[in-house]
Amino acid sequence: MKNLLDLTIEEMKQFAVELGEKPFRGRQIFTWLHRGVRDFREMTDLSLPLRDKLTKGFARGDFRIGGCRVAGVQEDSRDKTRKFLFRVGGADEEREDNGGDFVEAVFMKYRYGNTLCVSSQIGCRMGCRFCAGALGGFVRNLSPGEMLDQVLAAERYLREKGEADEKIINHVVVMGMGEPFDNYDNVAGFLRLLHHEAGKNMSYRNMTVSTSGIIPMIYRFAEDFPQVNLAISLHCLTDEGRSAIMPVNRRYPLDELLEAAHRYTDKTHRRITFEYTLIRGENDTAEDAALIGKKLGGMLCHVNLIPLNRVEETGYDGSTRKRAEEFAAAIESAGIPATVRRELGGKIDGACGQLRRISSCPTGTDSL
Ligand code: SAH
Repeated sequence: MKNLLDLTIEEMKQFAVELGEKPFRGRQIFTWLHRGVRDFREMTDLSLPLRDKLTKGFARGDFRIGGCRVAGVQEDSRDKTRKFLFRVGGADEEREDNGGDFVEAVFMKYRYGNTLCVSSQIGCRMGCRFCAGALGGFVRNLSPGEMLDQVLAAERYLREKGEADEKIINHVVVMGMGEPFDNYDNVAGFLRLLHHEAGKNMSYRNMTVSTSGIIPMIYRFAEDFPQVNLAISLHCLTDEGRSAIMPVNRRYPLDELLEAAHRYTDKTHRRITFEYTLIRGENDTAEDAALIGKKLGGMLCHVNLIPLNRVEETGYDGSTRKRAEEFAAAIESAGIPATVRRELGGKIDGACGQLRRISSCPTGTDSL
């Protein structure tokens, strides 16, 4: 069934024309939907007959809107991080019955604004050994509108809780469940929807996409979205070690990945973020730190160190805070800017790598 949130502005204009309306009506509908309004009767600048036509079309099941329904919310009371569990699929708010699957998104408050970490797939194919995203296997790609609806549904929930204005989410990171570059076209469509001036009008600079290292898509991304931030999950600077924890490295080895990263910065003049999850005894030694200095020296980059968040099934443990800080200091002394990421949402399994398909998030709203 057609999902109206998947449509570009041109497609929405076409949709209006198919309803016997002028194209500009499509733009108006686009704007309302992207503001989070989904009751056509509230779209007050549309004619009454058009509102009626849309309401009836929706009731008949001619089209649907969004497809993400809040199925559970957990709040980390310390830092106000919230994890949303969304039911996605054919199920719309008014239609309870037709199944669906689950993804998660995490809302985080930072000094510079509010960020939503969005999922790009249901499940994941990459199989990183330390990550919960891969545990339930891969189900399917999310569409642009299903990614956008994570933002809209989270905002609606927060607004209903009385948490500020419409622009409450002003940064988006595609770092939730899934590998965005394994679903490139839909992620690209999502970024364009977010950016559209008739919609959320979000600056590309407020968006970040994180990849485990699918090299051909890094080249494509540099062409298509030179203003969107790119993060690459590195985690180890030897092929042997990286392949052991990230199977993607066997297909796209380290030197080629770093070459792509260099080309990316040459082309975009934008600083790359390398994510490096510190796993106790695996990749957190002084030699590992030295290798980072050696391999990344001279690149326009920044290393974001994430102490591993524990995922029960994987058997890995995070480095201690002390080790993480020593590691950061060693990298910095080699001239590479590094930060140890503030852990948000650890208490609710909402931290990096803890998002999973079969969620730990109970149905219903929960505050810890
Ligand atoms: N597939 C993309 C985006 C999703 S993961 C990617 O790999 O970049 C977002 C980040 O969390 C990645 O850097 C990932 O490696 C990291 N991550 C995965 N599991 C983790 C865990 N258990 N603890 C800390 N970070 C983890």
